[in-house]
Amino acid sequence: MPTFYDTHAHLDHPDFAEELPEVIARAETAGIEKIIGIGTDLASSRRAIKLAEEFPNVFAVAGWHPTHALEAPEDLRPALHELARHPKVVALGETGLDYHRLPSQKPGATDDDDAQYKRKQAALFRQHLEVAAALGLNCVIHQRDALEDTLAAVQPFADRVRGVFHCFADDAAAMRRIVALGSLVSFTGILTFKNGQNIRDALAATPLDQFMLETDCPYLAPMPYRGKRCEPAYVKETADVAARVKGCSLEALSAATCATAQRFFHKLLGG
Ligand SMILES: [Zn+2]
Ligand SMILES: [Zn+2]
Repeated sequence: MPTFYDTHAHLDHPDFAEELPEVIARAETAGIEKIIGIGTDLASSRRAIKLAEEFPNVFAVAGWHPTHALEAPEDLRPALHELARHPKVVALGETGLDYHRLPSQKPGATDDDDAQYKRKQAALFRQHLEVAAALGLNCVIHQRDALEDTLAAVQPFADRVRGVFHCFADDAAAMRRIVALGSLVSFTGILTFKNGQNIRDALAATPLDQFMLETDCPYLAPMPYRGKRCEPAYVKETADVAARVKGCSLEALSAATCATAQRFFHKLLGG
């Protein structure tokens, strides 16, 4: 059976609390060999690490999500340094820029609030990139409605840090700019959605060794589970569609995406 990795799973999400061993067992049965749990703040990163200690096939990424930027400490670098020392922390993140919902969309908030929010996101993102550069790690990047600023932030680090633009939902032109920086893209279940043709077109244009697969669970369940709680086992459904789009066998897709993940998250094989 061709095996795959779930390179982006929110295993510490309360939706999984009741039955995490079962969720991980179902992933193994479906051929999902490794699962990378993603932190969204310090507490969540510590939970992700604890799960990686508990389950041999689970790894962790430590960081602070941009949409929670305003609650973050001014300087996250000491905490990132400390968390990244763990042998199963395979990257930093998720970090990045998200301008989808700005403070000014709420009554009473102003453009100044937006500027402050964006400044804090940018500062945090930079701190992740700095620590990643210092430690020889890569970053899991969350980008929404902020492509230009995200590329500009990564650019000065591109010779030292690679990013994976996770939950990639932009077009082939954006993918090419990301790959040109030495970074990667990764695809979720939205690849399987009826209205996901633009994303399938972007995947069709992506070289076989420049992308990974993920669920972003508990969100974004692929067809035929769309709208339900997603879990790592469902990488399989996304892989089926990805192989069809790439015109390759599941075996070839498995080999390519797992090798890419091993290069990107280079502590995966040591852990
Ligand atoms: Zn994200
Ligand atoms: Zn995520």
